[in-house]
Amino acid sequence: MTRIIMHGFFHIKRKVTGLLVLTGLIFLFLPPVHAQENGPYRVRTVVIDPGHGGRDPGALGKRSREKDIALAISLKLGKYIEQNIDDVKVIYTRNRDVFVELDKRAEIANENKADLFISIHANGLSNSRVYGAETFVMGLHTNERNLEIAMKENAVITLEEDYTTRYQGYDPHSAESFIIFNLMQNKHLEQSLHFASCVQNQFSERARRHDRGVKQAGFIVLWMTTMPSVLIEVGFVSNPQEEAYLMSEQGQDYLASAIFRAFRDYKQSIESREEMAFSQAEALSRRGVRYKVQVAASGKRISLDHEMFSGFSHVEEFTGNGLYKYAVGEETDYRRIVELSQSVRERFPDAFVIAVRDTTVIPLSDALRQTE
Ligand SMILES: [Zn+2]
Repeated sequence: MTRIIMHGFFHIKRKVTGLLVLTGLIFLFLPPVHAQENGPYRVRTVVIDPGHGGRDPGALGKRSREKDIALAISLKLGKYIEQNIDDVKVIYTRNRDVFVELDKRAEIANENKADLFISIHANGLSNSRVYGAETFVMGLHTNERNLEIAMKENAVITLEEDYTTRYQGYDPHSAESFIIFNLMQNKHLEQSLHFASCVQNQFSERARRHDRGVKQAGFIVLWMTTMPSVLIEVGFVSNPQEEAYLMSEQGQDYLASAIFRAFRDYKQSIESREEMAFSQAEALSRRGVRYKVQVAASGKRISLDHEMFSGFSHVEEFTGNGLYKYAVGEETDYRRIVELSQSVRERFPDAFVIAVRDTTVIPLSDALRQTE
């Protein structure tokens, strides 16, 4: 009897014998975790999304409409970024008073491979005493008020044609409908939260706005974007003092420059982190160290062309302790291999990260120590 230990392989085989080929095909269509780049990651493209527009005015104040305030602040923000940061491209989902569907807004960001999506809105409530600014990231609401705001913003889609077929059956009037958001995992939550807190800090410290905090709720427009994204509610048009501020040139300047400074802070911190990771990865590769994901170990040799490896790149065989070990993927950046290992585990639940120098597996801790 040959000893065969295959992490998760039997599990797959038993469950989807006939589907194995199909699984391989699906994997082929999955994009790589990160595109190969020649330098460290940089924040290059920002999509600014002024909420509402055209036949959709958004929240209505006594003297103002949300769509006008959102557009004015968005255009100022874009101008600040263009004037002060050289290497960033600004794209608007609208730069005038027109109606744009929610899925179209997300599509503009996705197609342009934006690094950040900033949706700008203003709030309205029947209670005119409520005021302040808050920033949302995609997630499940933790209280009814956040749910209410998301439902109100999402209701825009009822002004679109065919909305029932375009949003996977999502019904903006039903709280239960939010269950569809459970199906996705927010890959960019950490970065979205990071930017959101930069925005709120600037609002309270520099623009002296009442800070209502960073929150999570199921906004369709954030759900459909594939990059870090936030939705900013700059204030309440239903509060007379705040409405006056939001309508004033000075108020709009303060808010736009607060978001601009938040963007600059965010860009700097992301890029310095990425630069560090990149130089660590470079140092490792100079020493011939790389990371892979081990998916199987066997007493018997397995062909690298075996269907179990289909769809994976950099399939390699190693030997040790009388076993043949098989690993896939290849990265010099530890965080990237961890990301890859998470997707590999969908097929091989017990897969784990290994470090390799030249053709020998070395203790992971040794490799990690070298990057410190
Ligand atoms: Zn809105």
